[in-house]
Amino acid sequence: MTLDDIDRVAVLGAGSMGHGITEVVALAGYRVTMRDIKEEFIQDGYDDIEWSLEKLAEKDRIDESPETVLDRIDITTDLESAVEDADLVVEAAPEEMEIKHDIFSDLDEYTHEDAILASNTSSLPITEIAEATSRPERVVGMHFFNPPVKMDLVEVIYGQETSDETAETTYEFVESIDKTPIYVRKDVRGFVVNSVLGPFGDEAAWMVSQGEAEVREVDGTMVHERGYPMGPFELSDMTGIDIGYHVRKEAGQPIPPIVQEKVDAEELGQKTGKGYYDYEDGDGADYGPEDASDDFDWLRIEARIINEAARLIGDDVATAEAIDTGLRLGAGFPEGPCRRADKIGLDTVLEKLESLYEEHGADRYEPSEHLRQLVEAGNTGEDAGAGFYEYGESADRDYTTINVEHHDNGLLEVELDRPERMNALNQDLMDEVVHLLENVDVDEVRAVTFEGAGDRAFSAGADITGFSGIDPHEVEVTPVFQTVNDFPRPTLAKIDGFCLGGGHELALACDLRIATEDSEFGFPEINLGLLPGGGGTQRAIRMLTEARAKELIFRGERIDAQTAEDWGLINRAVPAEEFDDTVQEFVDDLVGGPPIALRKAKQVMNEGRDQDISAGLQLESQAFGLLLSTDDMMEGATAFMQDREPEFEGQ
Ligand code: NAD
Repeated sequence: MTLDDIDRVAVLGAGSMGHGITEVVALAGYRVTMRDIKEEFIQDGYDDIEWSLEKLAEKDRIDESPETVLDRIDITTDLESAVEDADLVVEAAPEEMEIKHDIFSDLDEYTHEDAILASNTSSLPITEIAEATSRPERVVGMHFFNPPVKMDLVEVIYGQETSDETAETTYEFVESIDKTPIYVRKDVRGFVVNSVLGPFGDEAAWMVSQGEAEVREVDGTMVHERGYPMGPFELSDMTGIDIGYHVRKEAGQPIPPIVQEKVDAEELGQKTGKGYYDYEDGDGADYGPEDASDDFDWLRIEARIINEAARLIGDDVATAEAIDTGLRLGAGFPEGPCRRADKIGLDTVLEKLESLYEEHGADRYEPSEHLRQLVEAGNTGEDAGAGFYEYGESADRDYTTINVEHHDNGLLEVELDRPERMNALNQDLMDEVVHLLENVDVDEVRAVTFEGAGDRAFSAGADITGFSGIDPHEVEVTPVFQTVNDFPRPTLAKIDGFCLGGGHELALACDLRIATEDSEFGFPEINLGLLPGGGGTQRAIRMLTEARAKELIFRGERIDAQTAEDWGLINRAVPAEEFDDTVQEFVDDLVGGPPIALRKAKQVMNEGRDQDISAGLQLESQAFGLLLSTDDMMEGATAFMQDREPEFEGQ
């Protein structure tokens, strides 16, 4: 079964997850049948989908009408009719092995023999679920995150018998519904995201239990200094303290005393009105930046997270890339734990674990074999040139915040890949773009495009999370904008969605800009008491009239793409359905154009812009003279005479 063979999908369960998965699959254009055991459950799920689609339509987040999407959804309580034509079944029924077994043995009977049978279980072994069928090679885990419509990540989990074909087709299917898959290559408890996330709450609970920190201090530091979206105790209150308790019990792990106390007192978090914070009589999770403390030993928590990641890599469960993607998209981490580990230094992490192990003698601190091996091999992280990732100056550096595709025709496509933060520019992303442009073989590049991952933004600004304590002298003016500006090939920003702040400045550093009509442009910096610091003030005032540039920067308001085009900020604003074709027309001209002439034209225009006209004209005439002696110029002239398309070699 390949992706092309997947035509009909069935989702079993219309609850929290089932209805969301059904909606996502239908949005991607598949026909899908949703099944639950009772009419009322089905109707509730269907109503939820309808409500959600209407919300998406109100916010202009979908291209079709809600009715068109709903037309692709069938509902039924009859299992056989739901699955008999299905090429892929996604089970999202209650989390009990007996229920899963009943369902999968029925599926074995009613589905055609090639159908892929996927379970959305969060914690049950895929291998055991598959035992209810005669075709465990076609059973796979497909773990969505809640709510599926919003959360971008799906773990694709191998059971012991799952075939590569099944897993690969499932992976491609996930991509086809606009979600990001990661492989979990072995059927381990908690899969990847929950395994690596586990120590976040667990170590925090041990530290408070041992009197080493206060609840607010932990949450305040982890959020305001370390950049996590939520503190471990707030998170635990939200998911339910009993949930974490049972996960530990099942895994045979010791329970931190503070967790035991909360469970005994039935203070289980938000759902009972009280947990680590008071949601009834108090203000809930009321910690803030003032609770962050320099004394708090956050490395204890992060070292355990990193150790767990290393263990999974060493056991061939997942790659560092998959783990980092998983934790960023599935848990909102500001950067992947492996990437962060490479900055901290793996030797520092190992020492921390060793000293904790010595002090407490608990298994949870035992350093993983893989972490030891990396340190022994001298791969201690970014400073050493390699850690979980490679950081060489050469082309084999691993990028973790951009995706790069270099096509045979010389087009270099750069995707800003932090969709969970609307592709906000952080230091890594800017460093990686600079590294790429400085190390790519310019002779092999004819043009560069920049775009944003996900469907919401080109880039919504600069990511300042976790840097609230930064001192002014620590702010480095990043070279990324100038590197893009100076790159000796034409650059084009493909803008679909928000293009704000630092992201806007990156787009302005490009030579050309094409946007979808519903994109929005702005410099919100002034609202933060700042000003655009990546060349925005200077580029805007040179590009626009003074009045318009100052309006944009002083007022901090957004303008729509049509206004941006009218003002001359962008080249084209086009309807979404014409976007790709318009970009393609530009790109064809750029990659097919004469490289030396384009390079010279860019150079003299950029340099001349900042000088008086006579200096500019001088630059132009020098460049003109130089071009007269190129093979490309001969080729251009010959092709013109012969009435054919020129083929420029850049000679
Ligand atoms: P839920 O209780 O909201 O929904 C389950 C639905 O399945 C109910 O409507 C129930 O009537 C229906 N059901 C029961 N037996 C069925 C059967 N034989 N066939 C079809 N439907 C049946 O539960 P949920 O939160 O949607 O979880 C579903 C699955 O997804 C579980 O395995 C859970 O572990 C997993 N999961 C949940 C979350 C989450 O955050 N809720 C996240 C990821 C995965």
